[in-house]
Amino acid sequence: MIKPDGLSGNYTDRIKNLISDSGFTICKERIIQLDEESVMSFYAEHSSRSFFGSLVKYMTSGPVLLMILEKENAVADWRALIGPTDASKAKVTHPHSIRALCGLDSEKNCVHGSDSPQSAQREISFFFEEKISG
Ligand code: ATP
Repeated sequence: MIKPDGLSGNYTDRIKNLISDSGFTICKERIIQLDEESVMSFYAEHSSRSFFGSLVKYMTSGPVLLMILEKENAVADWRALIGPTDASKAKVTHPHSIRALCGLDSEKNCVHGSDSPQSAQREISFFFEEKISG
């Protein structure tokens, strides 16, 4: 997912180039405006965290670009390509990562990636209402 700051900052083309240069295929994509309810459900695991209200505000601040990416070892490779959660740290430790390129801090980090094949299944179903195999 390219989050609102990634889309509004016009990083989409650069991110898509990195996606294809890294061997991913974009199988499906759609742009949507998330509402508070979907963000609260999507990030339910963080509902008790102090930053949750701010996260909901950030994620509803503009449209997001959702993509289903395909590749051998896609989940781990995408997480490696986006870099660590805190974009300000990513700029130092992972300067070639997507979050280093377009993110700002531990909240506004411009992209999301599923953290396991199981969450990829859940998130694809959540946004695209379909199941994937593998
Ligand atoms: P994502 O799930 O978006 O790919 P992640 O797995 O790297 O990110 P999580 O710990 O799952 O990180 O946090 C989900 C999102 O919540 C982060 O991407 C970020 O936008 C926000 N977030 C995480 N930690 C903080 C924090 N300490 N302060 C503010 N926002 C945070």
